[in-house]
Amino acid sequence: RVIKCKAAVAWAAGEPLKIEEVEVAPPQAMEVRVKIHYTALCHTDLYFWEAKGQTPLFPRILGHEAAGVVESVGEGVTDLKEGDTVLPVFTGECGECRHCKSEESNMCDLLRINTDRGVMISDGKSRFSINGKPIYHFVGTSTFSEYTVTHVGSLAKINPEAPLDKVCILSCGVSTGMGATLNVAKPKKGSSVAIFGLGGVGLAAAEGARIAGASRIIGIDLNSDRFEKAKLFGVTEFINPLDYKKPIQEVIAEKTDGGVDYSIECTGNVKAMIQAFESCHDGWGVAVLVGVPHSDAVFATSPVNFLNERTLKGTFFGNYKPRTDLPGLVELYLDKKLELEKFITHEVSFADINKAFDYMIKGESLRCVINVIGN
Ligand code: NAD
Ligand code: ZN
Repeated sequence: RVIKCKAAVAWAAGEPLKIEEVEVAPPQAMEVRVKIHYTALCHTDLYFWEAKGQTPLFPRILGHEAAGVVESVGEGVTDLKEGDTVLPVFTGECGECRHCKSEESNMCDLLRINTDRGVMISDGKSRFSINGKPIYHFVGTSTFSEYTVTHVGSLAKINPEAPLDKVCILSCGVSTGMGATLNVAKPKKGSSVAIFGLGGVGLAAAEGARIAGASRIIGIDLNSDRFEKAKLFGVTEFINPLDYKKPIQEVIAEKTDGGVDYSIECTGNVKAMIQAFESCHDGWGVAVLVGVPHSDAVFATSPVNFLNERTLKGTFFGNYKPRTDLPGLVELYLDKKLELEKFITHEVSFADINKAFDYMIKGESLRCVINVIGN
């Protein structure tokens, strides 16, 4: 019942992952063991691997953007069975709590993101080990492994026809960015939207703005190589803050007659978060924070910016409820109403997983899909 399989283990901060043989314990009550087919790299994995601005927790199996198939289920699991196709999600949906019952929130009391916990909720233990020594989990998903164990509420059951090498990126980045725009900022048709950070998440936010009918989509990134690619996602204008001596808020205010209607921050840099907020027009502007900040970062702005009737919001997973909403996003892709291919810039074998980190560090990739079943 214990499975021996390969996993990419992060042994220490910033050290290349090592493919190891790990033991994966059977799923306990309300848990599910999943065979991962494809996983992709999101910047959040990279932060916790670098552990520069985040709590270090090692050895750990990272990974949270993925797709796979249920191998076995633990006691009490009735919603899923062996053979079901699933997307694991870092912020789950128990279906029972006040948040799950609220139309507004996806911040499940039981299964909301917890980056510092490296064990299962039920018994405080890990399901991964090497020679009896436990290896920590990551955000309840740990998808850099041939098999993983998650809480049943962290798995969205999707259409089995879906190609898993594509829909795996709906398990975090693309849904997060699109939802940040469509569910949280909710831009009106014809409005102006600024997107800070044009990686996978930011370009998904741009895609959301395009779908909502925004007339101007201004992309801001320190990496000008992003601009060519961003045109495919409806970005109409570009600003590289490094090209200007004055604050980028002023540059944007000049270009937009006082500020943008909406801005979405997808960088993880607190300075960019403040810039995104202060770039909004007074009277109606709405800013949405998506980037994961350093754990000690502090957002500092004059309260007058709020008095002047700007709104600041934030979101995990674009406010989508994973189990309720992800199957529909997969259908949108299958109906060709949502293009995922353009986000996938690289594909590597599981053995080459460290290359995915290199591409992201160099700013070359949007999403790099890692083929776990093909080895
Ligand atoms: P990425 O590395 O692909 O893209 C980030 C982009 O931001 C890069 O192009 C980079 O050049 C740019 N950037 C960095 N600092 C900047 C600055 N000061 N000004 C302008 N541009 C800047 O990363 P990604 O995978 O797209 O993730 C983006 C952010 O979203 C990360 O912080 C990640 O942790 C976060 N994230 C949040 C959620 C959520 O639910 N809230 C989900 C997924 C990812
Ligand atoms: Zn992510």
